[in-house]
Amino acid sequence: MFISANGLTKTYQMGEVEVHALNGVDFEIEEGEFVVVLGPSGSGKSTLLNIVGGMDLPTSGEIIVDNIKINSMKDKELTKYRRHTVGFVFQFYNLMANLTARENIELATEITENALDIDEILSAVDLNSRSDHFPSQMSGGEQQRVAIARAVAKNPRILLCDEPTGALDFETGVSILELLLKINKEYKKTVVIITHNASIAGMGNRVIKLRNGKVIENYTNENPLSPR
Ligand code: ADP
Ligand code: ADP
Repeated sequence: MFISANGLTKTYQMGEVEVHALNGVDFEIEEGEFVVVLGPSGSGKSTLLNIVGGMDLPTSGEIIVDNIKINSMKDKELTKYRRHTVGFVFQFYNLMANLTARENIELATEITENALDIDEILSAVDLNSRSDHFPSQMSGGEQQRVAIARAVAKNPRILLCDEPTGALDFETGVSILELLLKINKEYKKTVVIITHNASIAGMGNRVIKLRNGKVIENYTNENPLSPR
């Protein structure tokens, strides 16, 4: 199995109060799947994504990626994992405001060894003509395409997307989902998207539903819907 989560828990200590963000989460993901993690706000989605991405550690349980236990990696290995194995896409794009689209992508590829060609990626996200523009000169959808290009250019095996359409209008959100589906197929990346939006779940070939830090449903979609 490519990604396995076994009995993951995460407890935040808030003074006297314990917040149980994850309460024993198990799932498996095969390489190349397009997975949607669906749940209401506060259900533990971001906590889970951060643990899979090596940005946060579980309180107990294990997360295994490509036969390596992420949560017992040393700091150096973990940094390598975050740089090479995973790419992140965020709700609010998180681009560097003082860098152009191309420079934002270049910056990400500088720390990796097997980066993809930047012009090829720019054309894959249909942004060749905007490559010298700054984030403030672009629409939200264009900024998200730069952010996706930046994540893919590092050539990671897994793309982790935290509410990637959450800040966009409906039509733009659809086009971003289409782009992520294309990257899943053409670049053979495992894609994990978290969302509170049930209509997005129909597009995944796998849906993992979270509620109160637990998996309440986990199913395969034989015929995922196209975004339009
Ligand atoms: P979601 O992404 O589904 O909205 P989160 O993973 O962000 O859920 O949060 C799950 C629960 O954990 C929530 O109750 C949230 O308030 C809590 N939580 C998340 N991060 C922290 C933190 N750093 N400190 C304390 N509580 C947190
Ligand atoms: P909210 O996040 O407040 O529930 P919406 O439900 O309108 O708002 O949609 C949030 C995001 O999800 C939007 O960017 C939208 O483009 C995307 N989205 C919603 N439904 C679909 C759908 N059927 N196909 C593609 N994208 C969708």
